[in-house]
Amino acid sequence: MAIDATLPYDDQNIFARILRGEIPNRTVFEDEFALAFHDINPQAPTHVLVIPKGAYVCWDDFSAKASEAEIAGFVRAVGKVARDLGLVAPGYRLLANTGTDSHQEVPHLHVHLFAGQPLGPMLLR
Ligand code: AMP
Repeated sequence: MAIDATLPYDDQNIFARILRGEIPNRTVFEDEFALAFHDINPQAPTHVLVIPKGAYVCWDDFSAKASEAEIAGFVRAVGKVARDLGLVAPGYRLLANTGTDSHQEVPHLHVHLFAGQPLGPMLLR
């Protein structure tokens, strides 16, 4: 079900539980600012989620409230994951769903990283 991105952070969401180590994940990268792991239901040959370690509901929440260090750390982590996976030359797509119309399901900011094949048009037509 799509979430309302204006609601307060729910620390029982599934990615908060992954960050606390309560639920397993297939980690690709981790540092002080971010965790990257394989999506459980991949939509492309490579489908990795990158999440900030801080408690942010969505892109709006993060861009408004995160510190400069958190923002820089997160953005650099997304780039590093793509580089480390060898995705820069073939290319990749980033996607951050925010709120109801985008169909965001998990209320902890995550950037989808898709790659591994031609990814088609940007949106369903
Ligand atoms: P969104 O619709 O942008 O909120 O995307 C949520 C994503 O989280 C979906 O692609 C799900 O497949 C993925 N997901 C949900 N639970 C897990 C989990 N436990 N581990 C990895 N990915 C998950």
